[in-house]
Amino acid sequence: MSLKNFAAVTAFLLMDMGPLCAQNYPTKVITIVVPFAAGGPTDTVARLVAVPMTKTLKQQVIIENVGGAGGTIGANRVAKAPADGYTLFLHHIGHSTAPALYRKLPYDPVKDFEPIGLINEVPMTLVAKKDFPANDLKELVAYVKANKDKVNLANAGLGAASHLCGMLFMSAIQTDLTTVPYNGTAPAMNDLLGGQVDLMCDQTTNTTSQIKAEKIKVYGVTTAKRIASLPKVPTLDEAGLKSFEVTVGHGLYAPKSTPKPVIDKLTNALQDALKDNNVKQRFGELRAEPVSLDRATPQALQKHLIAEIDKWSPIIKKAGVYAD
Ligand code: ASP
Repeated sequence: MSLKNFAAVTAFLLMDMGPLCAQNYPTKVITIVVPFAAGGPTDTVARLVAVPMTKTLKQQVIIENVGGAGGTIGANRVAKAPADGYTLFLHHIGHSTAPALYRKLPYDPVKDFEPIGLINEVPMTLVAKKDFPANDLKELVAYVKANKDKVNLANAGLGAASHLCGMLFMSAIQTDLTTVPYNGTAPAMNDLLGGQVDLMCDQTTNTTSQIKAEKIKVYGVTTAKRIASLPKVPTLDEAGLKSFEVTVGHGLYAPKSTPKPVIDKLTNALQDALKDNNVKQRFGELRAEPVSLDRATPQALQKHLIAEIDKWSPIIKKAGVYAD
């Protein structure tokens, strides 16, 4: 058989088998790749939704943490994974900022992924180690400007939400600080609690309990309005950083060309997860507001991703921040 014929027969067989495999899907464990360290905000979202998804899909949904390079290592792993529904990807705003930040991104966030659905939208908080001298945003800005060679800012690498938020903060106060990258903001939070780093911007998913326990200081939330779980904390806008606004949307993806029946089953399982009482309660406590079910769809996630790429790319380009 010629190579051309062989390719045609293989394509036909795959086409023929596709719907059958998709019908039986899933028949084995499903892995959600989280591109940051265990115990952090993205990981928390993934572990919460994996439990009810396991129930709906009747197959275990497990989490694999593939941290590094601001989420791009995990993204690349999933972009190159088989499109069979057994390797999924849970990421956030970083999926839309990476193309502007990395000159040589080895994947395309839109073309190499099949969206499954949006999950939630989470505010961020600007926080500091407990004994940091500044007590409010005004004092923080004055202190940071006067001590810029001493103060450092933790993040989860170039492309993370913490990086974007920190970059916006530095640009708003026109002061560059030394940044300290981690594989995720879980280890960064450990160092903030231990006093090894000074400042961080991170999702409420990771900061709420530490703020409430007064183990870290908080200067503001990144949403346009104050949030119910931290009512005394001002927005960064009202505290003095005019128009400062970042909200972190999480989405679930599969590799490109994953069969539609498989995507449909995953969207259905994701929607079940967003209706689950434990997910609703924990998301509520962490202020990780679940999206309405009509947004937990492939179309809504695709639209959101493209809109976020269009929103952040010019801002990042203007800031002139790049990785090679
Ligand atoms: N919140 C982190 C960030 O994007 C990532 C994480 O650890 O989940 O900065």
